[in-house]
Amino acid sequence: MVAVIAFDNSSSYAKLADDTLNAAYINFNPGGKQPIMRDTIFNEQVQSMVFPANYPNENLREKPKGMRVILQERGLWGSGLKGFCGNKEVSIENPRCCVYHVLAAQEDFLNQKLILQEVIEGLEHKVIFYLKFHCELNYIKMYWRASKRYTWQHCNYT
Ligand SMILES: [Zn+2]
Repeated sequence: MVAVIAFDNSSSYAKLADDTLNAAYINFNPGGKQPIMRDTIFNEQVQSMVFPANYPNENLREKPKGMRVILQERGLWGSGLKGFCGNKEVSIENPRCCVYHVLAAQEDFLNQKLILQEVIEGLEHKVIFYLKFHCELNYIKMYWRASKRYTWQHCNYT
């Protein structure tokens, strides 16, 4: 059996897993305080977001690579690329303005899912989200309405 689980757009459903690929939380340089993110696939190869345990620089072993190294490994590094251009607009196509936007526009970074979707789809069920501002399409409201009508007709509330 495959369940289809429907959610409204409550912000509490919009959480990402701690290791979700998210350019906003990656430092420009390796190491330092930044989250350990999951491995990903780029050009059909696994790319780790951390340095290997046998990395020559002992201080960086199993530490996050940072945006510069991630882009260098992808062949997307360009000298003169700065950390963040300051533009909060996220819908830039094929950006070259800054490392943040170059990385954030990568397909694997764009395709990260909410933790809710990851868990439910991981169990081979399906997730849908209702359209915003269209509660008339939310079928749970129809059940509520029917149950309210039923109690209104059959209950004397004593
Ligand atoms: Zn930018």
